[in-house]
Amino acid sequence: MTELSRFLSSRFSGLKAYVPGEQPKDTAYIKLNTNESPYPPAPQVIEAISRGEIEKLRLYGDPECTELRKTLAEYCSVTPEHLMMGNGSDEILSFVFMAYCDKNTGVSYPDISYGFYSVYADLYGISSEEIPLKENFAIDPEDYRNRGRTIVLANPNAPTGLCLTVEDIEKIVASNPDNVVIIDEAYIDFGGQSCIPLVRKYDNLLVVQTYSKSRSLAGARLGYAVGNPALIHDLNRLRFSVNPYNVSRLTMLAGKAAIEAQPYYDNKNAEIILTREYASAKLKELGFLLTDSRANFILAKYPGMGGSALYEGLKARGILVRHFNKPRISDFVRITIGTKEQMDAMILSLEEMLGI
Ligand code: PMP
Repeated sequence: MTELSRFLSSRFSGLKAYVPGEQPKDTAYIKLNTNESPYPPAPQVIEAISRGEIEKLRLYGDPECTELRKTLAEYCSVTPEHLMMGNGSDEILSFVFMAYCDKNTGVSYPDISYGFYSVYADLYGISSEEIPLKENFAIDPEDYRNRGRTIVLANPNAPTGLCLTVEDIEKIVASNPDNVVIIDEAYIDFGGQSCIPLVRKYDNLLVVQTYSKSRSLAGARLGYAVGNPALIHDLNRLRFSVNPYNVSRLTMLAGKAAIEAQPYYDNKNAEIILTREYASAKLKELGFLLTDSRANFILAKYPGMGGSALYEGLKARGILVRHFNKPRISDFVRITIGTKEQMDAMILSLEEMLGI
């Protein structure tokens, strides 16, 4: 990385940007490092991107994503006024931090969670509080009751994969009536229970979901917020102040077709869950310790071997996983669930590394 220029605003001189997982240019690796789906988008999604639609790219898209929101609203059992679409859920989260937190209204999130939360807090000069997970990496819902700050929780949490129940979350939302509670459900389709049904009951609950993981569209960049229409109105005010055409025409089409092809994705997600349970059992047989993940990844460690040795050993064998050099989780690696064949190759490599 080159030095910062002398022109950058001093506001950002200390900013530590988010570091995404490696995206190798060659396809030689078995890529289990950024929680993408191993399956292609549904055939209907591919057909939706026709030549005619590509030709229409000379025109701006619909800044309201009207057709997509109509279809998605029906799927989520809400109205289109409960929905805002974003360029990935990262963009939605960025608007959320901008909208509902500042120096006075601080934000709380777990000490081990999605790395972008602290980056957005820094970027927007927000006072943030990291609440330690319990020893077993679970979130203690009691820690978030009557907190009096904006709360951001990933459910399932990343990279632990552990879930809170909807009942636990409802108690958190109900006990913080004057603050927004954001539930980031990026991995909800792999075994958790969504809080979307609660958005009609609580005006301070915002649920964020993505097409990146369970709908095989990470590269299309599509996420959404579900919440009370007033919250959605706030977020739209910011979106229209930054980039009203934030979702491309082709992505909108893909997003609508993906909802219409939901049975395809239900099948693939069930397959991913089965593969997760299969790989988890295999890893346990080898002596690995794992969290009880309800996501499309596993967080695993091998007693006596550090996480970076696991990461390096697998990389040398053509398998990319994610290692976080952070307190408490540095002994672990996060392994995305791929196809069964990919998981078998990963397990074979681990056996080789461990001399089993
Ligand atoms: N939330 C969590 C918890 C994530 O792990 C990710 C993926 N990195 C995101 C949000 C953002 O996903 P996207 O921007 O691809 O929708």
